[in-house]
Amino acid sequence: MSIVVSGKYIVTPYKIIKGGKVVIDDNRIVEVGKRVSEPQGAERLEGDVVIPGLINAHTHLAMTLFRGFADDVPLEVRLKDHIRPVEAMLKPEHVYAGALVGALESLYAGVTTVASMYFYMDQEAQAIVDVGIRGELSQGMIGITEESRKEAKRKTEEFVRLRGNKDPRIRVAVGPHAPYTVNKDMLLEAKEMAEEYSERLGYPVMIHIHVAESPREPEEIKKARNVDVYKYGGVASYLYDIGFLHERVLAAHVVRPTRRDLSVLKRSNAKVAHNPQSNLKLASGIAPIKEMLNYGITVALGTDGAGSNNNLDVLLEARFAALLAKGRDLDPEAVPAKEALKMATVYGAKALGREGLGEIKPGNLADLVVLDFSSPHVRPLEEDRIISHIIYAAKSSDVKHVIVNGEIVLEDRKPTKVNVEKVKEKFEKAIRDLF
Ligand SMILES: [Zn+2]
Repeated sequence: MSIVVSGKYIVTPYKIIKGGKVVIDDNRIVEVGKRVSEPQGAERLEGDVVIPGLINAHTHLAMTLFRGFADDVPLEVRLKDHIRPVEAMLKPEHVYAGALVGALESLYAGVTTVASMYFYMDQEAQAIVDVGIRGELSQGMIGITEESRKEAKRKTEEFVRLRGNKDPRIRVAVGPHAPYTVNKDMLLEAKEMAEEYSERLGYPVMIHIHVAESPREPEEIKKARNVDVYKYGGVASYLYDIGFLHERVLAAHVVRPTRRDLSVLKRSNAKVAHNPQSNLKLASGIAPIKEMLNYGITVALGTDGAGSNNNLDVLLEARFAALLAKGRDLDPEAVPAKEALKMATVYGAKALGREGLGEIKPGNLADLVVLDFSSPHVRPLEEDRIISHIIYAAKSSDVKHVIVNGEIVLEDRKPTKVNVEKVKEKFEKAIRDLF
């Protein structure tokens, strides 16, 4: 099927095309410009501003179940005393219901790809396919005892077998949870697994891991793994020196990197998912994004789970990234609006090893968001102000249409593939069950 999307402005985001059109054939963008050849019988969509689908490079999709639960307590206490006891009761249907709401919330916010790590990932994959967005999904692996290591590996194997190549919307990743919950041997095993899967599946399988999520992490690693990361020069330095860090590692958070951490992240070409709101809410600090970008590190944006944010709104995350960097470094140019938009799109695609996403250009996959800029808060509609509006003024409720893989999945703010009332019912039932 063909679709022609017209926009007063097309933001690729490298350039802005005024009065432009995007032609989609099947699941790919075939033409972008002011004058295009429009296929006969093509479906038509139009709006004010067209941008690439936004990319959430770090979340735990089903954790919508924990939104507003045990807020405002220290991260370690929250996980140990509040979240983990409920997670121990989770059944596949709860994860499916939580992920459905997460995928739907993402869709409404113009987020077309999510990198999520959790449990029962086959259920998350199903929810994502049902709503019609994309997922890069990893089964969270925790390897403290020999038995838990084996079990974690078995579950990942099973998930990869089930979902590795089943649907074009889903890619798998390997998810060793964090350096304090996974020992050195298992980290290296995860690296081997990712290599083997990449070969088997024919696409780059990423390793998704939390790194330096809080300033307390070095102590956690010392306590749990008896490793003194300071001897290596920091958490990322430890991962580098044991031979784990490489270009397909997606490190979430990296809140307090040392100078050596930054240099090994750059040298290994590992990617960073910056989660500004979660880092603030969990009192973990403000990551040095200007410095990371200056080092040439790829920095994408993540929301983290809805339990620690409390939303999955990547546009808002981009605003936080831009504002926090300015405030942190007392530098208005630290992260300009244009850079923040790239973090939410092109850098996100790069961080996930997804060539073909993140930019509106011929040959790329057709993941597009059409924004409605008719409201007063995004006026005036001038070309040189559009990117500023997207980052500093727009709301996710300005998202009007969303196309993923050449399919219209949100039209005039109505999801086309799922019944919203039924999703809510399922979700409420899961909440009643669990809490
Ligand atoms: Zn996380």
